[in-house]
Amino acid sequence: MSLRHVPSDNCLICQGEQEVVIGIHERGPHERMHDYKRVLFCAACDIGELRAFSYDDFVVFGEEEDVMVWSAVVGAEDVERLRSLFACLAPLNHQCGCAQHVRAYDTSIRAAKTLLPEYGPDRHSPAGRTTVSIGVTDGLAEFC
Ligand SMILES: [Zn+2]
Ligand SMILES: [Zn+2]
Repeated sequence: MSLRHVPSDNCLICQGEQEVVIGIHERGPHERMHDYKRVLFCAACDIGELRAFSYDDFVVFGEEEDVMVWSAVVGAEDVERLRSLFACLAPLNHQCGCAQHVRAYDTSIRAAKTLLPEYGPDRHSPAGRTTVSIGVTDGLAEFC
């Protein structure tokens, strides 16, 4: 993996480091692929996000980007709701396969996220992002 493929979880607004609130799912990092979904929070900006990162070196050149990053805003109040509602004792464990983690994974895929530019001067611009909120169904927190 070349340096430009090292994922950045920094805040899209202030570029500062973010706290990982929930580690939803991760595969890798492997040499030629890495993807994850997690919820991040920037204390400085008081705003969170649902971030999905995908690096796939096997894509056919020119057909698809090898790195794709999606993000959706999660408001500070919803981040707090997520912290208190997340029904798993290992919220940072991307590998956990409990019902809560599965629910978070399934609903994070369906949640409307914005594909961020990966290259060029607008790299990871926060402009135009959708917002997702946190709901709870059958005792499990979910993105909606
Ligand atoms: Zn920030
Ligand atoms: Zn779990």
